[in-house]
Amino acid sequence: MNIHEYQAKELLRAYGVPTPPGEVVYTAKAAARVAQELGGSRWVVKAQIHAGGRGKAGGVRLASSPAEVAEIADQLLGSTLVTEQTGPQGRVVNRVLVERASRIDREFYLSLFVDRVSQRIVVIASDQGGVDIERIAAERPEAIRTEQVDPGVGLLDFQCRKIATAIGLGRRAAPFTRLLKRIYRLFRDKDCLLLELNPFIETEDGDLVALDAKMTIDDNALFRQGAIAELRDFDEEDPKEVEASGHDLNYVALDGDVGCIVNGAGLAMGTMDAIVLHGGRPANFLDVGGGASPEKVANAFRIVLKDPNVRAILVNIFAGINRCDWIAEGVVQATRDQAIELPIVVRLAGTNADAGRRILDRSGLDLIQARDLDDAAAKAVAAAAGRTEVRVP
Ligand code: GDP
Ligand code: MN
Repeated sequence: MNIHEYQAKELLRAYGVPTPPGEVVYTAKAAARVAQELGGSRWVVKAQIHAGGRGKAGGVRLASSPAEVAEIADQLLGSTLVTEQTGPQGRVVNRVLVERASRIDREFYLSLFVDRVSQRIVVIASDQGGVDIERIAAERPEAIRTEQVDPGVGLLDFQCRKIATAIGLGRRAAPFTRLLKRIYRLFRDKDCLLLELNPFIETEDGDLVALDAKMTIDDNALFRQGAIAELRDFDEEDPKEVEASGHDLNYVALDGDVGCIVNGAGLAMGTMDAIVLHGGRPANFLDVGGGASPEKVANAFRIVLKDPNVRAILVNIFAGINRCDWIAEGVVQATRDQAIELPIVVRLAGTNADAGRRILDRSGLDLIQARDLDDAAAKAVAAAAGRTEVRVP
């Protein structure tokens, strides 16, 4: 789960990490009032969406009067911001953060994340702040410093000093070390997967400040992170994914046209691979789970069909705990109740597969049956492309 920049900054402040003074607002009038209260002569207005790249897209703008702050807030609020990270559909801006502008001397990149390869928390830092890290990694890999943290002892002072020296903050090694250790503690306490400060800056007065913050919390830890779980912003999530999680279905929207309904996460991944292998593109990942009832299957169809890009649906069931006849009932019921007109390819294997196939046969519905996964993927890709014949990859 992601949280907004202003929320991450509140947490950083609570852990003693300096951020620019500011406040989130929902109206232009409030933006002007906050600017007035903050004082100073320059402010920055920042669109709060769960995506970076806002600066280049006009979502982070400087103002030199409270009236100008209000003007920018008015333009941003309600607008759709398209950045490198939002996808072409963009994100609607519902809140903006008004901050006193910082006077930047140098911009750095600093992030902590859980590295799956080493299975440890890794710190990444660079003196090339503000730019996206993938580009630095590609163009100037030597400008990136990484330190792995041993979970037994935690982040050590000498590691912080090494990073400070490597990014040209050797002079400020002591305050940098204090800061990084606080960030590390926050990361651990809140079960983060990622905490990225890009940029983190040295101001003209020599202060180290987190100017931007992106924080991702491990969904599996939300049960013990009640206060953070409440920060979940449903406006930032795909409504289909929100609905699916309400039905205990594991759904992730993708951008292809073959809708997938599968039991088991591994099989769902394999199904997506098979679709791609046959030249198609999956519209989603969907795991209906082990004991999928006809109701659950019907809900799965409902969610998959909310995606207007879907041209064909592939139901792929390998029943161990499940029963294929039960799934088949669900498919038939959903196809009738929801008056589905798209081609539906069904592959059933495992417990009661024959009984399941008979139910599909006898339904009188125009369901396309498949022998195995390969056959199913080929037929679904062909159906999505409006072809009836199958191409051999
Ligand atoms: P992002 O583009 O979504 O990552 O948004 P950031 O919060 O990182 O802001 C983008 C850029 O705007 C930063 O790299 C800074 O160069 C600039 N910026 C943001 N806040 C300030 C500020 O207070 N003062 C100045 N001078 N520049 C700022
Ligand atoms: Mn940034």
